[in-house]
Amino acid sequence: MSYPFPIPTPGTHTRPFWEGAKLGKLMLPRCQDCNRVHWYPRFLCPVCHSNNLEWVQASGEGRIHTYAVQHLAFGPWAKEAPFVTAYIDLNEGDRMLTVLRGVDPNKPQDIKIGARVRVEFEAANDDMHIPFWRVVED
Ligand SMILES: [Zn+2]
Repeated sequence: MSYPFPIPTPGTHTRPFWEGAKLGKLMLPRCQDCNRVHWYPRFLCPVCHSNNLEWVQASGEGRIHTYAVQHLAFGPWAKEAPFVTAYIDLNEGDRMLTVLRGVDPNKPQDIKIGARVRVEFEAANDDMHIPFWRVVED
């Protein structure tokens, strides 16, 4: 069965992320001048505008900043609704938008802001592994 969702095409500024994802590693760009990580990948640091960037392996852990239950979706996601999307506060800094797994979209009251989450990767094909986040039990 083929992967039901659009598969990203790695570009110059995202290839290290996807190479890490294939190995189960969450890679983030970090500015070597101000030492901050940022998400999404860019060719300039969004804080100090330096182009002195490197890729670092992140912990793959964070906390739910906020979330939304998607009751209506389009295209390949339509049959997945309802599902939960969330912004994750990465342990290293900045935020990542994701699909949140391991939660019941019909019980949003059980989803806690600040809950610990961990990244997981799902193979879309032999080369592309897609990240998503799952709540970690305390
Ligand atoms: Zn910077």
